[in-house]
Amino acid sequence: MQSTKRSDIQLRAINLEIDMVLDSPSAVMTHLQSNPLRLLIGGELVEGGQYAPVIDPATATECAIAPIATATQLEQAISAANAAFPAWAATATKERRRCLRVFAEVLESNVAELAAILTLEQGRPLALTRVEIERAAMLLRAMLTIDIEDEVLRDDEGGRVVLQHRPLGVVGAIAPWNVPIGLAVPKITHALYTGNTIVLKPSPYTPLSTLKLAELARDVFPRGVFNVINGGNDVGAQMSTHADVAKITLTGSIATGKRVVASSASTLKRLTLELGGNDAAIVRKDVNLEHVAPALFGAAFVNSGQVCMAIKRMYVHSAIHDELVERMAAIARDTPMGGGFTPNVKLGPVQNQAQFDSVLSVLKETKADPRARFVVGGSAVDKPGYFIEPTIVTGLTQGARLVDEETFGPVLPVMRFEDDDDAVAQANAGKYGLCASVWSSNIAAAQQVASGLVAGTVWINRHVGVDPLVPFGGMKESGLGRQFGKEGLLAFTETRALYCPPGA
Ligand code: NAD
Repeated sequence: MQSTKRSDIQLRAINLEIDMVLDSPSAVMTHLQSNPLRLLIGGELVEGGQYAPVIDPATATECAIAPIATATQLEQAISAANAAFPAWAATATKERRRCLRVFAEVLESNVAELAAILTLEQGRPLALTRVEIERAAMLLRAMLTIDIEDEVLRDDEGGRVVLQHRPLGVVGAIAPWNVPIGLAVPKITHALYTGNTIVLKPSPYTPLSTLKLAELARDVFPRGVFNVINGGNDVGAQMSTHADVAKITLTGSIATGKRVVASSASTLKRLTLELGGNDAAIVRKDVNLEHVAPALFGAAFVNSGQVCMAIKRMYVHSAIHDELVERMAAIARDTPMGGGFTPNVKLGPVQNQAQFDSVLSVLKETKADPRARFVVGGSAVDKPGYFIEPTIVTGLTQGARLVDEETFGPVLPVMRFEDDDDAVAQANAGKYGLCASVWSSNIAAAQQVASGLVAGTVWINRHVGVDPLVPFGGMKESGLGRQFGKEGLLAFTETRALYCPPGA
């Protein structure tokens, strides 16, 4: 790999150069026009069977075209992954780990270019897309420290029993548009570290950065081990029905998760589903308002609310409800929103027209509810692009769509509670169970509240973020299985119990 041969100083200089060059939408668009992206199938970068426009959400205009895989190209990708599987499965874990470390280096060495492309297609400010790439590499490296070797369960006069963690085959990985690289890289890591091969499909709304990563990492793995195609929901559906795909790892909406469960049933695929969240934060009256207001705001409005594990509902003790809401509204008024290449911007647009329309329809319905009080925001911003004001609404209860459903935009409902049991009951209502948090200066009391929450992750005095060594995933309809940690990795394997005679 060329990147591994370059010195750190050279790489820093190249990154700085790209940083300076790719500092505006037009510069990135020109860069993409002169370096067209392709699909990665069987180690070859190939033209798409068709091309589709990609929209810059900050202007709502076309910023690039992306290749789309035909059904035949998807077949070719699955077939290449299938052909590469036996050799990759037989490759020593140490060597697979080495390849993945080179992959992490590719991410780290190309942060500037990947982040600029990501900001163009996803909309988030450049400083934050840089964090996405850097963090993806960090998660990858940390996961490689997890031991996935076979385990001896017993070794005595009755014999020796070894649990062998066997890879499954071809993994179909399907990613959403909200955090394209940050969600794709763990899928690649889970699949390849455990000895599977992969066909990765990004969201057609944000394919560019993933296709660029495919190009940059083309030679990191043996041919056919790592394949990247692009396409719409039909391509995803084709992956989840395909007989030669052993497992689907999907991050997406609950509706899509259910479709994948149905379409994968006939081949009984293994599934890891990371689905929607409607995370509740419970704020007790003993918090320090000055400290928690910015932290709660950040965790609710990160990526303009388009994060599965963002705070989507807040339950605040009546004694502090009004003051906390006012403090958060003041932060909302002061938070600069705009295109991701504009210096000092903190919030970007909603990522696509469909999501923009969906958030506006929730706002319209909420405005018609006589109980709703819009403390701040409530409308689209009057300029090109999919911008919606950071919005805080009080006065609602369960039964309102904004409270019951994941809005996935910069809109936060804040409700009151009178005691901890009331807060827990409200937080646990509904079909979601991804994450939740409890905010209090009394940690013992917070732990007591946390123990009643039905969610795959519960934080005390923080919200958002994954630890690569800790399993992450949803309860109830927020998912199936876990990613990260040993549990997440072993979900990409099948356990074989090998019984040997005593002394073997
Ligand atoms: P989506 O479900 O519309 O699409 C996700 C991916 O699935 C896309 O690549 C899409 O093309 C593909 N797809 C759609 N229909 C399919 C089908 N029938 N078969 C196979 N693939 C199909 O989701 P989105 O709008 O891109 O992303 C937002 C959703 O993702 C939100 O609900 C959010 O909460 C969720 N999400 C969850 C997590 C998590 O870790 N739990 C993380 C990020 C986002």
